[in-house]
Amino acid sequence: MADKNPYDVLGVSKDASQAEIKKAYRKLSKKYHPDLNDSDDAEQKFKEISDAYEILGDEQKRKQYDQFGSTGGAGGFGGFGNGGGQYQQYSGGFEDIFDTFFGGGSGFGGFGQQRRRDPNAPRPGDDLQYTMDLNFEEAIFGKTEHISFRREQDCHYCHGTGAKPGTSPKTCSTCGGRGVVNQTRNTPLGRMSTQTTCPDCNGSGEVIEDECTHCHGKGREAVNHKVKVKVPAGVEDGQSIRLSGQGNEGYNNGPAGDLYVVFRVKSSDMFKRKGSEIYFTLPINFAQAALGDEVEVPTVHGKVSMKVPAGTQTGETFRLKGKGAPKLNGSSNGDQRVTVKVMTPKNLNDGQRKALRQFAEATGDNVTEEERNFFDKLKRAFKD
Ligand SMILES: [Zn+2]
Ligand SMILES: [Zn+2]
Repeated sequence: MADKNPYDVLGVSKDASQAEIKKAYRKLSKKYHPDLNDSDDAEQKFKEISDAYEILGDEQKRKQYDQFGSTGGAGGFGGFGNGGGQYQQYSGGFEDIFDTFFGGGSGFGGFGQQRRRDPNAPRPGDDLQYTMDLNFEEAIFGKTEHISFRREQDCHYCHGTGAKPGTSPKTCSTCGGRGVVNQTRNTPLGRMSTQTTCPDCNGSGEVIEDECTHCHGKGREAVNHKVKVKVPAGVEDGQSIRLSGQGNEGYNNGPAGDLYVVFRVKSSDMFKRKGSEIYFTLPINFAQAALGDEVEVPTVHGKVSMKVPAGTQTGETFRLKGKGAPKLNGSSNGDQRVTVKVMTPKNLNDGQRKALRQFAEATGDNVTEEERNFFDKLKRAFKD
């Protein structure tokens, strides 16, 4: 690895103008272009030239170099730990050096740590979802339930490093701890350098030589976790609540994720529900509808007595105030709507049949105003 400063590489003086630098770069890059130069060190030389021009050809970078990089050499920025000359450092882009330099963080033995994922940085855990089945009444009245599920945490055996206790992850030799690797290739447009995630450490910059036997190097383990869930009264199918910090635990003491409890509410054979309103259909017989009655109506709050007025028609709806589901804001209950369905009697016995005939005779042509209007309309419809 060359240990030269970019002025030396391009063969220009420290106070060279941009035009001079550009000229020198053109001349040298032509000379050492691997497509034009067969010598063994052409590619390396070309890379040095490109890197040098990347710094000096940019006023901003050149200034930074003049200010901080002029001491040159691997020791220039101190503490990078993994040796390497200036060119290795430059190859990741000049900013990397300054990110590290001013950030002061050489603790991971690498540089360019802004760009790679620091494996030791705290990161939040993932959110989790738990589906809780509720029957119709449980959703209306709410309940408290202890649920148990698996959630991830840092392995208690290796404390999340993934390395066998007593050992520690090593700096990845493929990427030198940077977590990224450069790929340089020649294209018709010139030399292109792209950065990709290091395949050996998946971007963490570290590799584990001796895996923790408990988590097999993952650094994480799933454990049973118990949580008390208070189901709010009045929840509906598909609604959810969020329990802060009950999801997966964070990485390296990062915050835990949240737990979303999603409610799946079973339907009822008897009731239908829409928000806080409950709907119920009450079958009554012909006599009850005609004469009126006091009937018992089931509600989720128990049986309630309801007056059916004389002359009730089928399909008429009555309201039982406050007998619905609680409103989620806790202010009050909704209502129960009772729709009456008048059942026409079937399979009459002799006595019933006789009574109905008497009823019909007694009724005679004595129809109501409403019925007369209806029959008149019907007659007119058939006339046309
Ligand atoms: Zn472990
Ligand atoms: Zn690597």
